[in-house]
Amino acid sequence: MRIEEVSVVGVVGAGTMGHGIAQVCAMAGYSVVMIDIEEKFLERGMESIRRSLEKLKEKGKTEDVEEIIEKIETTTDLKGLEKADVVIEAIIEDMNAKKEVFRELSGIVKREDAVFASNTSTLSITELASVTRAPQNFVGIHFMNPVQIMKGVEIVRGLLTSQETLNFAVEFCRKIGKEPIICKDSPGFISNRILMPWINEGIWVLYEGIASKEEIDRGMKLFTNVPMGPLELADLIGLDICLSAIETLHRELGDKYRPCPLLKQMVKAGLLGRKTGKGFYDYTEPQ
Ligand code: NAD
Repeated sequence: MRIEEVSVVGVVGAGTMGHGIAQVCAMAGYSVVMIDIEEKFLERGMESIRRSLEKLKEKGKTEDVEEIIEKIETTTDLKGLEKADVVIEAIIEDMNAKKEVFRELSGIVKREDAVFASNTSTLSITELASVTRAPQNFVGIHFMNPVQIMKGVEIVRGLLTSQETLNFAVEFCRKIGKEPIICKDSPGFISNRILMPWINEGIWVLYEGIASKEEIDRGMKLFTNVPMGPLELADLIGLDICLSAIETLHRELGDKYRPCPLLKQMVKAGLLGRKTGKGFYDYTEPQ
């Protein structure tokens, strides 16, 4: 498909990543259909989009808050993606759940050469593509969090992804203001192969009582000039997402990626970070 032929972008999942992806696509002028399983998740996603657009307006980076919002339609019915030219999936990091979505989409999206993309952090693009009607039109488009701010996007080539689809994904990302980096399909790609062990190791350092959470985060910022320490970043990403990611690396690449027990316990306790109000830090008090 040629980039000029795209008018409707479907986004599946309205969470941390999905709403950001919907926003940047709408800001680039596309009509967007955003799907989630419950109305309340769509409402939360739209509220976050509005807040983000208003902040951008204050900074003079956009003018048209209402115009952009009007470009985004929401529904809990996957059939709402019938007319999509491109679909970007951003649901929970679970292979079976993602496969189910793509299986269904294969019977819903009318356009034969529509491009299907997953925003997965670590899962196999080749395996996800295998359940679709056209694996050559499938590609990984891995955005970074927060999508509205982070420029870098990983474009992941599955075993059967065609050169045309890869080129399309690169052009599409540029069109929505991102800088694409291409890599092969491998657990965690470039970003999470390096980042997730870093976060997991930060949690091990806390778990072993080597330093307090504040010292770990402040230290890593001072030592390596990163804007956030590993524990703050885990809270931003979501501890459930971090655990799924490190578990995939552990399963696929071996013991050096073993998840820290503290991470597992925190996920079991529902301490998922910013999205639930508590993780390593508390977000329930006004910041
Ligand atoms: P999230 O938990 O914030 O949001 C996921 C959303 O998907 C939820 O609103 C949920 O209701 C919805 N959902 C679940 N099943 C669905 C279905 N069958 N159909 C439609 N919607 C469904 O998760 P997130 O952090 O936005 O992560 C989404 C994806 O993006 C994951 O694959 C994750 O690995 C990846 N990712 C996350 C980050 C990050 O920093 N959080 C960064 C890059 C990539």
